[in-house]
Amino acid sequence: MRKIAVIGAGISGLSTAHAIERLAGAAGLEVEVTVFEKEGRTGGKIWSIKEEGYLCEWGPNGFLDSKPMTLELCDRLGIGDRLERSNDNARKRFIYSGGILNRLPENGPMFLQSKLISWPGKIRLAQEFLKPRRTDGVDETLAAFARRRLGGEALDKLIGPMVSGIFAGNPETMSLKSCFPRIHELEQLYGGLLKAMIKLAKQKKAEAKAGKQVASAAGPGGVLTSFVGGIQELTDATAKSLRGTVQAGHAVTGLKPVEGGWELRLADGSNFDAELVVSAAPAHVLKELTWSLDGDLSKLLADIPYAPMNVICFGYERPKIARDLDGFGYLIPKKEGCQILGTLWDSSIFPERAPEGHVLLRSMMGGATNPEAIELSDAEVKTRTMAELEKIMGIQAEPDFVRIFRHQRAIPQYIVGHAERMVAINERLKAHPGLILTGNAFYGIGLNDCVNAANKAGAEVVDYLQNMS
Ligand SMILES: Cc1cc2nc3c(=O)[nH]c(=O)nc-3n(C[C@H](O)[C@H](O)[C@H](O)COP(=O)(O)OP(=O)(O)OC[C@H]3O[C@@H](n4cnc5c(N)ncnc54)[C@H](O)[C@@H]3O)c2cc1C
Repeated sequence: MRKIAVIGAGISGLSTAHAIERLAGAAGLEVEVTVFEKEGRTGGKIWSIKEEGYLCEWGPNGFLDSKPMTLELCDRLGIGDRLERSNDNARKRFIYSGGILNRLPENGPMFLQSKLISWPGKIRLAQEFLKPRRTDGVDETLAAFARRRLGGEALDKLIGPMVSGIFAGNPETMSLKSCFPRIHELEQLYGGLLKAMIKLAKQKKAEAKAGKQVASAAGPGGVLTSFVGGIQELTDATAKSLRGTVQAGHAVTGLKPVEGGWELRLADGSNFDAELVVSAAPAHVLKELTWSLDGDLSKLLADIPYAPMNVICFGYERPKIARDLDGFGYLIPKKEGCQILGTLWDSSIFPERAPEGHVLLRSMMGGATNPEAIELSDAEVKTRTMAELEKIMGIQAEPDFVRIFRHQRAIPQYIVGHAERMVAINERLKAHPGLILTGNAFYGIGLNDCVNAANKAGAEVVDYLQNMS
């Protein structure tokens, strides 16, 4: 029996353990996988909390169905029938700008009619067609890319809010290549985003006729998908599917190479020996674990910063909100000077997230552009959020239900230099055979990215075991 340890029972660690068991089985290898988790529960950032008839997501509220990885995992777990696609009405997204909620345009005619971007801003955006491709290979920030190709207004009102909505990030520091590799690729392949949209639309038409599929220019797209009981059904089912054990409440505090593998030191003072270790813990944890093993690797991991975030769930009796809640919610450009990054209309996105006759709104506060917000008291977070909801949505009533969740380190930030840092990390790992890294700090923060990286880590484990047989 080959012993493997996985550190961290978030979606990355659990789906890695699942992939190892599946791939090892197919390769005829007998493995014993043990997952060590610091907290007393599994799921990491995934936690669906049910209280007073509300279903509040502590972290992610779903994954996009445009990539296959998570859907395939659901199939393997036999939980496909529990999947819940977001409501069609929730396709409408808004940007708060100029004192109103502007619907985010979804096509050319809507864009021309929209008041979100001024006419000079629209003309500047159209000039993207004429902008030359950047060829010097520089790892550009998202802000520099947006200013160069799309103009300052598009940066403020479209790109900035998108970056804060996905990464809670700052476009002035985030790397285009690492955060949105597809956009980078489109410029390189087609010479620009508008050119890419035109060419891919033509290709799509032609290939649709021939019954083939072609990637869309608009990036991942897809429908936000979760489960009837919240996204935690995914990690619960993955944990349950494992033949090995998940040791919740057992933090790993040390990592040492020993004859035949690795020795893990656990918080209770005991040790655990394994032939191979996969870390699916956050980079800042792995930084500590590798400090005495490899100072350079530890420093590289320390250079991956995390943005903090408060998640504020407000429940209301429906009549207390005068406006319609027909949509996904809204994001807010930094220039609006608001205290929150945006609000998701959770009970519109997925039905039954609030008791009959009630609604659930979930606002985000903080991120890389306002990290101090994590220090605010609950009372202050509530007051500031209420003030913003009154200004933006006209809600004057006190919420009937309030839950405030804190993420001291919510989301890793792929700042400029991330791709080079990954090359250096992989170089350092060559000196530590049997130590494999996965998790959201490296190759994507979305649940699909985490599952994809977990599948790759699983394959790497099986390769290693086969080579060492
Ligand atoms: C508020 C919020 C909203 C989000 N929304 C979405 C969304 O809608 N869609 C989407 O696709 N993505 C979303 N994301 C991103 C996504 O949730 C994460 O990228 C993903 O869940 C990370 O999974 P992970 O397993 O890599 O890391 P984590 O979930 O952070 O898991 C790491 C685990 O390691 C454990 N650990 C730490 N130290 C130790 C130790 N010493 N020993 C043992 N275990 C340890 C931790 O307790 C944790 O359980 C969101 C993230 C946040 C914070």
